[in-house]
Amino acid sequence: MGAQQVGVRFSELYGSAPEGVWAAPGRVNLIGEHTDYNDGFVMPFALPHRATAAVSRRTDGVVRLHSADIDAGVTELHLDTLAPGTDATWTAYPAGVIWALREAGHAVTGADIHLSSTVPTGAGLSSSAAVEVVTALALNDLYELAVPGSQLARLCQRAENIYVGAPTGIMDQTASACCEPGHALFLDTRDLSQQQIPFDLAAAGLRLLVVDTQVTHAHSGGEYGKRRAGCERAASLLGVHALRDIPHTDLTPALSRLADEPELTRLVRHVVTENHRVERTVSLLRSGDPRAIGPILTEGHASLRDDFRVSCPELDLTVDTALTAGALGARMTGGGFGGSAIVLTPEPDVPLITKAVEEAFTAAGYKAPRVFEAVPSAGARRLG
Ligand code: ADP
Ligand code: MG
Repeated sequence: MGAQQVGVRFSELYGSAPEGVWAAPGRVNLIGEHTDYNDGFVMPFALPHRATAAVSRRTDGVVRLHSADIDAGVTELHLDTLAPGTDATWTAYPAGVIWALREAGHAVTGADIHLSSTVPTGAGLSSSAAVEVVTALALNDLYELAVPGSQLARLCQRAENIYVGAPTGIMDQTASACCEPGHALFLDTRDLSQQQIPFDLAAAGLRLLVVDTQVTHAHSGGEYGKRRAGCERAASLLGVHALRDIPHTDLTPALSRLADEPELTRLVRHVVTENHRVERTVSLLRSGDPRAIGPILTEGHASLRDDFRVSCPELDLTVDTALTAGALGARMTGGGFGGSAIVLTPEPDVPLITKAVEEAFTAAGYKAPRVFEAVPSAGARRLG
């Protein structure tokens, strides 16, 4: 939705024009899956889909929240009542950000917020981070807090982890806050150092498709916890702080020490090879060869499917069908058990691959997937 439309709706709701309008995007992770809680590498880029927020300050401690996408009217809260775990609805995301800013000592004295988002929810594209980051950036600008984007991302993560109660890493919020157009963000989740890596698909005659399978398998939360606990146990058995500390050149000796633990062996093999896949992707993109990353994406999918075992039939069907139809590479993206897959393809093959995936879903009796092109886009910014 355009900045102007969001501003007009704000005026209708709250009776005066907003002080400003901001946007923050959703994201897709190019490579580096289930590495974030192992202190490893991730490489997201921002989608053109974004949350847009019109915001004004208040001085009376009141927070009014409205979303164009949720049929619930205006919610009115007071700063004094904001506390983790008290809100099970969508307003916990923006309210949690205000709570986190105030917890960090920033003098936010109230806000009127109206937001609208084009990021599909629950598709693994981080609609939640878009809502958090757009709120944080608006308040940062209006209250002149001068918090850098990477720090705002940390406050948003705190809001999601503690206020909302969802255990997520730092990738989503950092991507939404810090990505740049035509680039992917190489993020080290240990020291939070980041580098913008050129990822101009159009210039190379390529496209990246996102296939939202529109399924979420119910056991995803519990399985995430099991994988995470398994990685922590493997790190402790191997005497390292996190699996990130095992270089890929030490994989074979590390695995031989886990010979009695077949389940942990698979987890370690995924994390170590996945970190190396991120590094290989970075060096190929730096050398101006985006086409060559295709096989790395496909390798990553096989590792998530066979070793980490977080894929599902819909994601596997997407990847297999796209590759058969001529894609350069494809993999599931996000936590797994549903959500989205990405497909790297030469531009002329987009219609063919899209059709092949749609037909395969129909033939399998699955709900139709949502397929769209993902152009590496801008991170959060002020629109007006
Ligand atoms: P995702 O993978 O999309 O981030 P999450 O479950 O983490 O999935 O976050 C989705 C939640 O974020 C929604 O259920 C809702 O509470 C909130 N949210 C996302 N977009 C909007 C929006 N446009 N308006 C209000 N709330 C939103
Ligand atoms: Mg989310």
